[in-house]
Amino acid sequence: MRVAFIGLGNMGAPMARNLHEAGHPVTGFDTAARPEGLALADSAAAAVADADAVITMLPNGDILRAVAGQVIPAMKPGAVLCDCSTVDVDSARAVADQARAAGLEALDAPVSGGIGGAQAGTLTFMVGGSDQAFATMRPLFDIMGQKAVHCGDSGAGQAAKICNNMILGVTMIATCEAFALADRLGLDRQKMFDVVSTSSGSSWSLNSYCPAPGIGPKSPADNGYRPGFAAELMLKDLDLSQTAAAAVAAETPMGNLAQRLYRQFVDHENGRGRDFSAILTRFVEKDPENGG
Ligand code: NAD
Repeated sequence: MRVAFIGLGNMGAPMARNLHEAGHPVTGFDTAARPEGLALADSAAAAVADADAVITMLPNGDILRAVAGQVIPAMKPGAVLCDCSTVDVDSARAVADQARAAGLEALDAPVSGGIGGAQAGTLTFMVGGSDQAFATMRPLFDIMGQKAVHCGDSGAGQAAKICNNMILGVTMIATCEAFALADRLGLDRQKMFDVVSTSSGSSWSLNSYCPAPGIGPKSPADNGYRPGFAAELMLKDLDLSQTAAAAVAAETPMGNLAQRLYRQFVDHENGRGRDFSAILTRFVEKDPENGG
């Protein structure tokens, strides 16, 4: 399959490279990034002209809508427009409707697994759209990732992503406040990890991405909280969850509190540019015994 890849940032560039290395001709376009080892076009429209599949990996829904407006008229009939960015459900559905109206197939296929997963080709894809479009894209998902789940119609992939990341934000905060409480109670952090990681309080946030340095498998906490997954991206996803919840009148009090804590962390507590697990520091620093 000939592939056009629009958005060659931290995620898009390694995903495009994996497709290229697997033998698919890839033409890329990005307004700023010029990664090496990929054929680049001068515009989004030029990149997609011959493509059987157009993959987008962009910062947000507004940019996706703008790019879709450029590429949809330039795509060949029957080609698939597959957006892998994390965006709001409304933008995902609007772009899919626009693509189908132009005689194209469309999927929303956000990912989990971060930059490491993009580089290693071990992402998880959560996909919304038709059976046919999913079947067409499946071989490409299998190169870029280890798992692709067809979640339902257009928007279902973004819905799954937003729900997953709301759980992630909440469990990270719960894990961090528990470490800060353990500190105050004089409980050794390693002992807490040894108990909780195999008990009912375990979660991916603790077991695989422990926010306390020197404990558990290597994580951004062991690297000065360099992202990883930046706190402002966590906030973006929590904002998406709360917008979606408001639109369908879903009650998400924990997601709402997580959104407020991450907003405070990013805007006022030195969180911007740090990994999202660094939110541990704001709980520990508020501990008078630790000088907070
Ligand atoms: P990034 O900022 O590194 O890359 C985005 C790229 O899009 C940039 O290179 C930018 O120049 C390009 N771009 C912006 N406007 C454009 C336009 N009009 N036309 C073409 N290119 C344009 O971001 P990223 O970390 O690669 O994330 C991309 C998406 O993936 C986001 O939606 C993010 O939420 C999601 N995501 C990121 C991670 C992660 O760990 N970084 C994990 C899962 C999902």
